[in-house]
Amino acid sequence: MKRIAVGGLSHETNTFAEGMTTFDDFARGRGFPGLMIGDELLQTLRGKATSSGAFLDAADEEGFEAVPLLWTFPQPSPMIEQATYDRVLGMFLEELEAALPLDGVLLQLHGAMVAEECEDCEGDTLAEVRRIVGPEVPVITTLDLHANITPLMVEQSDALVGYDTYPHVDSYERGQDAARLMIDMLEGRARPVSALVQVPMLIGPPRMCTLIPPMADIIALAHEVEARPGILNVTVAGGFPFADIAHCGASVVVTADNDTDLAEAAAAEIAQAIWNRREDFRLELTPLSEAIDYALESGEGPVVLADGSDNPGGGAPCDGTVMLQAMIEADVPRSAVAIIVDPESVERAIEAGVGETVTLEVGAKTDDRHGPTLTLTGYVRMISDGRYVNRGPMYTNMEVAMGRTVVFVVGGVEIVLTEQRIQPYDCQALRSVGIEPRDCLLIGLKSAVHFRADYGPLAEAIFEVDTPGVHNPDVTKMQFLNLRRPIWPLDEDQLTEWTAGAEEADA
Ligand SMILES: [Zn+2]
Repeated sequence: MKRIAVGGLSHETNTFAEGMTTFDDFARGRGFPGLMIGDELLQTLRGKATSSGAFLDAADEEGFEAVPLLWTFPQPSPMIEQATYDRVLGMFLEELEAALPLDGVLLQLHGAMVAEECEDCEGDTLAEVRRIVGPEVPVITTLDLHANITPLMVEQSDALVGYDTYPHVDSYERGQDAARLMIDMLEGRARPVSALVQVPMLIGPPRMCTLIPPMADIIALAHEVEARPGILNVTVAGGFPFADIAHCGASVVVTADNDTDLAEAAAAEIAQAIWNRREDFRLELTPLSEAIDYALESGEGPVVLADGSDNPGGGAPCDGTVMLQAMIEADVPRSAVAIIVDPESVERAIEAGVGETVTLEVGAKTDDRHGPTLTLTGYVRMISDGRYVNRGPMYTNMEVAMGRTVVFVVGGVEIVLTEQRIQPYDCQALRSVGIEPRDCLLIGLKSAVHFRADYGPLAEAIFEVDTPGVHNPDVTKMQFLNLRRPIWPLDEDQLTEWTAGAEEADA
């Protein structure tokens, strides 16, 4: 029986966020354990809608042995301490060495991990994997759509299979693709070669949403190219713009069957299409007052406000108060804000007890870039353990732990206060604490795009609101020092023309 290693080393690093990511952040779970090895990895990921869940199912269906390595995917957060990266990578490589001999390696990497002294952790990780398994063993990884793909990542792997969706609802399907390609390689049916084209564009996350143009059109083109003879895989990565590194931004990787010219031409074709649509990728946020007035005037809900600047799913603190303050000041009825991370206020609310009125100092305890701490008097409607299971289309069945959670009601606004930083993209973040989204006039969410998978079908309207923060969807608000220049839209005056050509081709 063939032995194929299964592992995952994922982190989305927001280099603009305050503080550092430490070993404790990797070790701490968020509904699933933080650092999983051996049977714990197999048991936790089996049956889950993730790439690794697909690898394990493929092992059963295709008759190979899935050899567990290490799997970790902490909540996105600030720059990773170098010692932490070295330690976690060391643990991962130790499992890999112990797993030898191997016929193949299937990985679930994110693609936007940055440590203090390593701008390209995935390239570095893949190079270490290659060093250990040697040049002949196929190494294939899935990547998030927010990967900042580098030449090193392409060189050190046999194929990169990126998600085609944002919200990410195809992690499992791309895992199936990666496993199928692995089997095809092992059985001599495929010889993948890949070409990368980095597009000189920084795209704000809301414009990477694959449910709407222009990204929906680009993904349709990618699928059309993928159906051509000789093409094995097409990956369009929007990139993660909150990483101040040289290789930040959008990119295209095409993998062809032993035909480098074909891969290069196809990657250039798609990259050029992205560039040509750049005006459609331009993002304008809606002023908070305008979005709130819309809800008050229409009276039809739910109207969803996306506070992308404070999205914990992109490393923001999730305790920002700008949107909350505007909703309270506008005296919006039947509304909810999910979530505000504030362990101190949770503690105080629990001490006061359900049904009690209490004054709390709410939010903005991480930094001063997401609004002021608010002094709010309200009542404690509910105390919960903060646990739920995703029921929406994204990472379905994964368990989520918000920590101890309190519903604190101020006027018409129900505020979900938690101990843990969790992106509330699944409606269960509200339903698990007794708030039915359909009954709300206005819902403020700390999410840029992922919420659209579950809230989208029931939302009356959605606004990407203009708030400050370290995950500001308007990338022109961020200050880059290390990014390669020129890049659109930061330098659009100097960069009026661009012709795509593959920078790197590799076996
Ligand atoms: Zn992502």
